[in-house]
Amino acid sequence: MGHIVFWGLVRIAILIPALWFLLEYMEYKYWWTVGIMSVYVIVIHPAILQYKIFYEKNKKVILDTLCSNCKHFDETAVLCMKHDEHPTEQYVPCDGIDWQPK
Ligand code: SF4
Repeated sequence: MGHIVFWGLVRIAILIPALWFLLEYMEYKYWWTVGIMSVYVIVIHPAILQYKIFYEKNKKVILDTLCSNCKHFDETAVLCMKHDEHPTEQYVPCDGIDWQPK
């Protein structure tokens, strides 16, 4: 999940100067439309796609493992907060010993 935020910030950091530069060459009324569309196309839409890929890749861990029902499990990062490790379908960091219901 962190890489989605990171690359979103990188794209914003590149897009803002580009839009600022573009303002010199466009009428202001069109610049807003181009700006909003470019933020969606360059920043928001790729982030949505990356999140969908991330979710599909980790869907079974999020929905159907021992950790998915544990209060120490952070679904947004697919992370065991107690052991600071990423559980997988085959790997439960605590071997079930520290499991606590949500
Ligand atoms: S404490 Fe154990 S069961 Fe709970 S999330 Fe961490 S590894 Fe999974």
